[in-house]
Amino acid sequence: MRPASPPAYMHAFVTLVTNADYAKGAVALARSVRRTGTNADMVVLHTGGVDGSALQPLSELGCRLVAVDHLPLSDAFNERHSRSQLHAAAPFAKGRKPEFHSPLDNFCKLRLWQLTEYETCVFIDADALVLRNIDKLFAYPQFSAAPNVYETLGDFHRLNSGVFVARPSVLTFAAMLERLDEPDVFWRRTDQTFLESFFPDWHGLPVFMNMLQYVWFNLPELWDWKQIGVLHYQYEKPWETDHPKSDRLKPLIDLWQAHYTGENIPEIAGLDNPSGPGG
Ligand code: UDP
Ligand code: MN
Repeated sequence: MRPASPPAYMHAFVTLVTNADYAKGAVALARSVRRTGTNADMVVLHTGGVDGSALQPLSELGCRLVAVDHLPLSDAFNERHSRSQLHAAAPFAKGRKPEFHSPLDNFCKLRLWQLTEYETCVFIDADALVLRNIDKLFAYPQFSAAPNVYETLGDFHRLNSGVFVARPSVLTFAAMLERLDEPDVFWRRTDQTFLESFFPDWHGLPVFMNMLQYVWFNLPELWDWKQIGVLHYQYEKPWETDHPKSDRLKPLIDLWQAHYTGENIPEIAGLDNPSGPGG
């Protein structure tokens, strides 16, 4: 860990970028976070896969950049969780992952527990936007996450690790590393499966604190712009040029583009909800 500047507050929003694509995501995310008027720091964990030019706009947005290494994991672990092996052993049937997504990189999220200069951190995936002030999440207990709902209500018992509340601790980080790399272990949805197993008594955040983009067309009756705290573009990314669902998700992609460029960001409460099966 090589922090570039000291922390300013006891709370931080934290994201992770391991390549230039996710750095784009973090630009839109960071701009959205600043617009909520929060005083919390915005920390970007970045690996050697991101060069300075991709990080520059994040500095300009006031982010605290923290360089991190990949976790010290065994070769066998890394092999089992490589993109090709993971996609073969646990195929994605519901949506498509972009080429620039490396499953192994997801585990770097756990470095958040090393940010002990903060009392509480709220992790947010780089492919998300914060649409209203969510500072109240800093008062939630560890480990809090929202349900992984994007298809059926049966999904409410699973968590999605795109947004979570955590208390940094070197002891917790060490315990995690020990549990993570046991012989032959396979975390089919990487950090998400691991965190669900490490924190079996996880606390549920409201579904609006991690509203998944597929809800827009799968469960439109659940959508409510006025209540959404975090909008999360799981699977296909809004900056992808070859985006198979771009027609169906156009209003959401337009909203992301506005945050990315900083131009013509609309009033969220004024946006139209999707028309449900009856509407
Ligand atoms: N990530 C990254 N590089 C990668 C894969 C993941 O930086 O190659 C980070 C990034 O913050 C990303 C998060 O880990 O948002 C989780 O991956 P992703 O959002 O693509 O997964 P999904 O939400 O589609 O399940
Ligand atoms: Mn994501």
